[in-house]
Amino acid sequence: MIQIDTPVQNLSGVGPKRSQMFAQAGIYTVEDLLKTLPFRYEDRTHFCPISELKLEQAVVVRGRVVATAQHTTPRKRIRVFQLTISDGSGELQIGFFRQAYLGRVFRKEQIVVLYGIPRRDYSGSGLTLMNPEFEILEGGSEASLHSGRIVPIYRKVGKMSTRILRQMVFRSLNQLPLQLEDLLPSFILSKHKFPTRSEAFQEIHFPNAVPGMSMETQLSYLASRRTPSHERLIFEEFFFLQLGLQIKRAQYRRESKKRVIQVGPEIREAAGAIFPFQPTSAQDRVFEEIANDLSGPKTMNRLLQGDVGSGKTMVALQAMIVMIKNGYQTVLMVPTEILAEQHHSTLVHYLRHTSCRVALLTGSVRGKERQSLLHQIRSGEVDLVIGTHAVIQRDVHFNHLGLVVIDEQQRFGVIQRSKLVEKGSRPERLVMTATPIPRSLALTLYGDLDVSVLDELPPGRKPSRTIVKTEEGRSEAYSIVDRELKKGRQAFVVYPLIEESEQLDLRGASAMAEHFQSEVFPNYNIGLVHGRLKFDQRERLMHRFQVGELHLLVATTVIEVGVDIPNASVMLIEHADRFGLSQLHQLRGRVSRGEFPGTCILMTVESCSPEAHQRLDIMCKSTDGFEIAEKDLEIRGPGELIGTRQSGLPGFWFADIVRDHKLLESAREEALNLTRIHTDSGDTDSHGFGRLLAAARSGVSGTRINTD
Ligand code: ADP
Ligand code: MG
Repeated sequence: MIQIDTPVQNLSGVGPKRSQMFAQAGIYTVEDLLKTLPFRYEDRTHFCPISELKLEQAVVVRGRVVATAQHTTPRKRIRVFQLTISDGSGELQIGFFRQAYLGRVFRKEQIVVLYGIPRRDYSGSGLTLMNPEFEILEGGSEASLHSGRIVPIYRKVGKMSTRILRQMVFRSLNQLPLQLEDLLPSFILSKHKFPTRSEAFQEIHFPNAVPGMSMETQLSYLASRRTPSHERLIFEEFFFLQLGLQIKRAQYRRESKKRVIQVGPEIREAAGAIFPFQPTSAQDRVFEEIANDLSGPKTMNRLLQGDVGSGKTMVALQAMIVMIKNGYQTVLMVPTEILAEQHHSTLVHYLRHTSCRVALLTGSVRGKERQSLLHQIRSGEVDLVIGTHAVIQRDVHFNHLGLVVIDEQQRFGVIQRSKLVEKGSRPERLVMTATPIPRSLALTLYGDLDVSVLDELPPGRKPSRTIVKTEEGRSEAYSIVDRELKKGRQAFVVYPLIEESEQLDLRGASAMAEHFQSEVFPNYNIGLVHGRLKFDQRERLMHRFQVGELHLLVATTVIEVGVDIPNASVMLIEHADRFGLSQLHQLRGRVSRGEFPGTCILMTVESCSPEAHQRLDIMCKSTDGFEIAEKDLEIRGPGELIGTRQSGLPGFWFADIVRDHKLLESAREEALNLTRIHTDSGDTDSHGFGRLLAAARSGVSGTRINTD
């Protein structure tokens, strides 16, 4: 007897080598093995008579062994084990390459089942199977593992074939207790008509024929993961993730905060007065949401998302002013030095008539200057610190940090975010994203946060026009740029940087900058920024672009253009097909910041993939960041969209947030209800809530819960 948590190395047939292969695939226990979903299913319910085999058409045949032989191919000297079977309709020769040991496996008179694809034999006149999957039926039994049924096909784990894995899964299922512990509450099972956990595992690996359903229909449900068993397991995964997130959120909200924050008329007035423009109604609304959090009894833990250029900074700054007026320090952390610089100068400008003391802390602040700055932060002489990762260094101490704002938070890891939070005593938190996140992804990643959305752009924004050009249209593209430069506008040229070949790309970008300067736009000043420049070199160049000394800027990365230059009205993106949609949208957002309508030219090649064509097409049709993000998620998946490595995105066994968004919503709904019932009543034991809690915490569903 085995249990669900039995280590795989205890399974028969698993020695140190195989257990290492399993470990490399993240499979440690029987449960992990059972969660390894077949990547497809094959209908092997029909045995094909040998006389009816057709070239290249996969078949299952069943027959009696009539002969076995070993021989060696004449030229390449490969050992071949040869098997001959008969099924009454005819005889079939089967070849197994380099598997001489099969001579000890097959014997005359055995009944065998083979699965393979018929090919021409040596003579060219008959058909044969080469290295087919096989199974020897014991005692003539009809019940069979690898054929005569819908058969699961697994991806290889290390060197273990689908056949070996199938056997292990089959044996594990047979040796487990009849009913596994089911962590989903029974009322949820019955409400959604879900099978039990045991049934679900059985059915996703060895599906039984569904009464009244055609094989074709069943196969299509299996392929699209839409069987009740698949849905149950997907639901379970989402459910425990959402429960974990809700519990975290509830805990955060349960503890009352000690600080009292006033957001009276005077403070509102002060927070609004510093801007040279009227807030949009979305900005007003979001500020109210934040003000409620701040003045309320619970610590704020809020995500602010909005399209590029929707004015997130203004709202964040208003929140910071509220805190400063209440006597607290605040910190704004951004991912790059250039952005820190930019925010610093914008904020200093806005705050010039106030008594707020603003400081910039980046990696380039060193030595005495840094020491003195750290001292000011520690003593409370500074109210607002803007910085990069430098602000989470161990020797940075705040005096009374009350609010933490993280801009473009997806660029930071979970640990970095929590390090910043630990600089204060449970400070209020506001995190912002650079581009919109689709709802399904937001729920998965940020289900524990309250969410505010800026869904309106400041007035007078003229959406950029986006066009696609191939090499043929290059000179046309250049004349569009030229026209803008002649009007006194500025231009970006973006060149993608691919990590593996950074040097090569860099050469491409420098060559392009030179070519522009000497041949295309000789009358304008052209600059080149890239990640290899020293910070102050880069900063000088950016500054020259900002003040208009440079007219055209060639940039290798997205980071360098993450800046606000209202006079820039045209952007040409080389190899646009190499960028993801959200990145393109973010880039394009750089050229419709001022009063001039921006133009974005996407350069591509005729031969790029249909999928890339589709992406560029979406860019031309839509300027709505939320819509684009949804499409990006569909096309590239969540990992690419947000960068899985840093994101804290859970690794799902079954779930796919795009395909399964409906199940995600319903799992979230159930998790919300359950948490609400239990936090309201303070009762943590009915419905086995305690057990659920433990399950959610330990991530029983195999997903990692996003904790920061
Ligand atoms: P993002 O949401 O992309 O971070 P920003 O906060 O950088 O956007 O704002 C984009 C631009 O819009 C900035 O130049 C900012 O000064 C301007 N802006 C923000 N709010 C308003 C407003 N209510 N009216 C006019 N311009 C605004
Ligand atoms: Mg911003």
